[in-house]
Amino acid sequence: MRVYNFSPGPAVLPEEVLRRAQEEMLDWHGTGMSVMEMSHRGPEFGEILTRAEADLREILAVPSNYRILFMQGGALAENAIVPLNLLGEQGLADYVDTGIWSQKSITEASRYGEVVVVASGKSSGYTRIPPESEWRRSPDAAYLHLCTNETIGGLEYHWLPEPAYGVPLVADMSSNLLSRPVPVERFGLIYGGAQKNIGPSGLTLVIVREDLLGRAHPLCPSAFNYQVVADHASLFNTPPTFAIYIAGLVFAWLKEQALPGLSALASMEARNIEKSALLYEALDESGFYRTAVEKSDRSRMNVTFFLPKEEHNAVFLAGAKERGLVQLKGHKSAGGMRASIYNAMPKSGVVALVEYLAEFERVHG
Ligand SMILES: *Cc1c(COP(=O)(O)O)cnc(C)c1O
Repeated sequence: MRVYNFSPGPAVLPEEVLRRAQEEMLDWHGTGMSVMEMSHRGPEFGEILTRAEADLREILAVPSNYRILFMQGGALAENAIVPLNLLGEQGLADYVDTGIWSQKSITEASRYGEVVVVASGKSSGYTRIPPESEWRRSPDAAYLHLCTNETIGGLEYHWLPEPAYGVPLVADMSSNLLSRPVPVERFGLIYGGAQKNIGPSGLTLVIVREDLLGRAHPLCPSAFNYQVVADHASLFNTPPTFAIYIAGLVFAWLKEQALPGLSALASMEARNIEKSALLYEALDESGFYRTAVEKSDRSRMNVTFFLPKEEHNAVFLAGAKERGLVQLKGHKSAGGMRASIYNAMPKSGVVALVEYLAEFERVHG
């Protein structure tokens, strides 16, 4: 039996995608082999890679002067790969600190150059995203980095900074990429691990504007040099073939989810607004549960909340599990609960959670 899996990542995937992969597991399209067993340089995998890239380009409306790279190492590797590729002669980059994931980006980038923290949510206990009016940006930064969705704290940008000084915007979108339309042309580079909202772990997506290629530090490993990876169409070395295949099935699934008259991502956004509003409304109306994040900065992907007493947590989680609602425990650094409700979480899962919240409150409130 499938459960409702609220894991922050690796996370729930569309059941249709898993079934399709199951059907094709032993024999992909009459080749007599699994995608896992294919040469990454053969025509069959070539078809899978080309289709995945074309679908992603279409769904996200990636302009033609951007390259899509299928890489490895996850977002944490990108925290080093980005400065290695982009710091250039400036040697200085701006970072916005909105929580644990942006802090990790800051710490790693500091090993490669000068990092200026232009704003921090620290004074608010990371319950709000510092408004742009509080940012102190450097005119000579090689780039400005932000994390568009703080997966642990449960904060999400619902706005984008103004372009300034011609400084490219770089974003860690690991946990909200493909959950909503994104104006890619406003960014210099977007990266994210696939395992939150896109596919299996092992695949990292990078979308980079062409003029930012070719600036890598001489000591940057070739496999992590964006120019090299782009020149080889993501086949400089063996890419994570099976993860790319599954991500490709997810892209195709996303296209099928488009509502009449809406793009795939506008449709996902509408669903994600609906699902997250259901959950936040239930939490706001209860008087039992508590949320910490400023309403305007609440994540649609990761809904964090607290029970009145810490000793409720274990009972809450056990009761949830009995109902097939799993992986609701908050990150150890944050405590409380976190419901990750990515694209593949059906509305019925959120409804089941909301019903459980009410029931738990009736008994323990
Ligand atoms: C999960 C996550 C990461 C870590 O990604 P890895 O793929 O484990 O390296 C980094 N940033 C954000 C926003 C995340 O959600």
